[in-house]
Amino acid sequence: MTMNKDFLSEIDSKKEKISTEMYDLIVKLFPICRSITGDGVRKTLSIIHEHIPLEIHEIPSGTKVYDWIVPDEWNISDAYIKDPAGNKIIDFKDSNLHIVNYSIPKNCKLKLEELKPHLFSLSEKPNSIPYITSYYNKNWGFCLSQNQLDVLQEGEYEILIDSSISTGHLTYGEFVIPGETTDEVLITCYVCHPSLCNDNLSGIALLTIISKYLNKFSHKFTYRFLFIPETIGSIVWLHKNENHVHRIKHGLVATCLGDSGCLTYKKTRTGKNEIDKIVECVLKNSAEKYKIYDFTPIGSDERQFCSPGFNLPVGSLMRTPYQEFPEYHTSDDNLDLIKKEKLLDSFLKYLEIIFVIENNRKFKNLNPKCEPNLGKRGLYNLIGAGNKKDDETRAIVWLLNFSDGEHSLVDISLKSGLPFVLLSNLANVLVEKNLLKEIMIS
Ligand code: ZN
Repeated sequence: MTMNKDFLSEIDSKKEKISTEMYDLIVKLFPICRSITGDGVRKTLSIIHEHIPLEIHEIPSGTKVYDWIVPDEWNISDAYIKDPAGNKIIDFKDSNLHIVNYSIPKNCKLKLEELKPHLFSLSEKPNSIPYITSYYNKNWGFCLSQNQLDVLQEGEYEILIDSSISTGHLTYGEFVIPGETTDEVLITCYVCHPSLCNDNLSGIALLTIISKYLNKFSHKFTYRFLFIPETIGSIVWLHKNENHVHRIKHGLVATCLGDSGCLTYKKTRTGKNEIDKIVECVLKNSAEKYKIYDFTPIGSDERQFCSPGFNLPVGSLMRTPYQEFPEYHTSDDNLDLIKKEKLLDSFLKYLEIIFVIENNRKFKNLNPKCEPNLGKRGLYNLIGAGNKKDDETRAIVWLLNFSDGEHSLVDISLKSGLPFVLLSNLANVLVEKNLLKEIMIS
């Protein structure tokens, strides 16, 4: 099946199934303790592998990647704090957020004042456990709610962190769906956050399920989906693929896609790439509220893809951006935050973006001197009373005027406010009627 309008209606008929598949995947991945390396990432990738045949890459610790070195691998099986009476008061098995991610092993007894510098809480959110990492500074610690911290009594506490940091690998997943050309669309997510839903798992679920469906259709572009640990993973991938990145024509970092906020697009570094216009076109066509931000070097993996030495056409489409939703990087970013209908809406917008990427074209008007007579070609419909032209007629007029070899269908959609799908379908009709001729987009 090719990626024409049947593609959108085929997906439309499976909406319920898709939303359940994504949500169930999030539920399954939620309990796993992930980090930038280790078995949590491997387990996550093996579950994704049940849906798509992704390739797993293992990069040895110590590998130099630009200014960074792949760290030793971290794994953990247990961690707790026992109070002076021997009660387990903080238990990694209750929530993997209780441990500072990458904590070194520890087994000792400490007085409360010695323990306190290793305890992290949020006074402004007294019920929430914060998410804290210490990847590159060897340290250890526990995260707990302010309420848990406030009731600790003086005395001796028993600490166990059954973790290991040793030579191993950094693991990431890559799924490539070849197209008719080697020009690529890169869509990435990160797989390093432990039990956090919106910031991490929503992106993973969307990429897994969208790539599964995309694999069933033929398409022009080659699609590359990356499941990488944030920052170090994109640095590793860019280092390994530096000679191939010129193939990337459009890219998106997928994150924070399941909360109830409106969609937010963060532009590419220049803000002048085709993907910037394509995403704006899809958001504008939706007639729903949306936000568009300029690029900043603060955020997720777009920081690496858009570093000046690469400057790739990679933006990021999310709902409420990280750091803007109050549950961000706390135990409140859990299953309750994920709204199935919003996750599905994010999926459908990504799909529409792919549809536009595949079908954006430029045309030349073959009858450019004055308007061609549409009536004698059966193209002029007046629906309703007076001079109110219907959308189809308006679309035809816009297409004929701006098909000057310069403006693409996306440009015309943005200028006219008319839906891309309508313009694309009518452009095909005008080609059949010998009024337009498709020209190659350079
Ligand atoms: Zn995060």
